Amino acid sequence: MDTILFSQPLSEADLDRAAAIIRGGGLLGIPTETVYGLGADGLNETAVLHIFEAKGRPQDNPLILHVPDAGWLPKYCQDIPAEAYALARHFWPGPLTMILPRREIVPLRTTGGLSTVGVRCPNHPLTLEIIRRAGVPIAAPSGNTSGRPSPTTAQHMVEDMWGKIDGIVDGGSCGVGVESTIIDLTVTPPRLLRPGGLPLEALEAVLGEVAVDKAVVSKLSDGEKPKAPGMKYRHYAPKAPVTVVTGPAEQSAAWIAANCGEQDGVICFSEFLQLFSGHEVHDLGPMGDLPEQARRVFDALRRFDETDVPAIWAQCPGPEGLGLAVGNRLKKAAGFHLVEAAP
Ligand code: AMP
Ligand code: MG
Repeated sequence: MDTILFSQPLSEADLDRAAAIIRGGGLLGIPTETVYGLGADGLNETAVLHIFEAKGRPQDNPLILHVPDAGWLPKYCQDIPAEAYALARHFWPGPLTMILPRREIVPLRTTGGLSTVGVRCPNHPLTLEIIRRAGVPIAAPSGNTSGRPSPTTAQHMVEDMWGKIDGIVDGGSCGVGVESTIIDLTVTPPRLLRPGGLPLEALEAVLGEVAVDKAVVSKLSDGEKPKAPGMKYRHYAPKAPVTVVTGPAEQSAAWIAANCGEQDGVICFSEFLQLFSGHEVHDLGPMGDLPEQARRVFDALRRFDETDVPAIWAQCPGPEGLGLAVGNRLKKAAGFHLVEAAP
């Protein structure tokens, strides 16, 4: 299949063509502030099936519906609690997905067979405009081939999807860099199903108590079912095995320097780069700059696939703020293979 690359700046005609791909049942790589998505008309079962096929995604792993504003919520969800509108007022457009009871108009194919649906309003002007022109919600998971790190540039989308989808919209590098935070509003108290670009602390400031799903912080044992089906799959993984080293940054850096093999790759904070000269090393950003770490984490993981490092060692931020999401993505890339560097 020929893939059209819509380069910046997009003309009016480009926006219409991109919207026509969605309306016509095609597949479109879309930029958002979190990661690039692989989008299709979320109400068209056949189009949605093609998303699963292009990604090699398991059918029970639901997609997120992208809408241009909270006014679209009642079209696709029912029994919407006041909290949903409060969250939308505070955080939309932005990196927050709400889980709500689904209306029948949303195909089970989109929700992975669930009676609930995940909805979010992305903070990217091109994608918002394309959804409005298409007149339908865009269902989109992250645009990577299943299992690979999520795409945060149009180039990453090209690496995974060129020739497999109808178009890719280049909207620049993703400003947030990790996927949306997912909050389940069908339970009391609301439950964090996936940490992401909106910190847990921000949700707590609006909602009060928020429960944290077990799958967020630990590996589930065999047979255990997470509420966000995506959390059970090995994810974000480079070809080489990853080990995450937790603990204070000085200790984790020293531990990696003492234990890693000569050929091994390293992901470290900027402050420790000189410790690893001679290694294939990717800079996660300054240790105090969590937004920068979120923007870099997927590219750092992805770049190792251009090398043949036998193993990768990664430093990891603590769980405060965006550190919860950055640490979760690193730990999932490691299959929760962790080492604690003791002080
Ligand atoms: P991705 O954008 O690739 O991370 O995929 C969407 C994520 O949203 C997956 O981890 C899904 O498990 C999660 N998700 C989407 N809809 C629902 C839902 N109705 N209930 C729980 N999790 C959901
Ligand atoms: Mg994904």
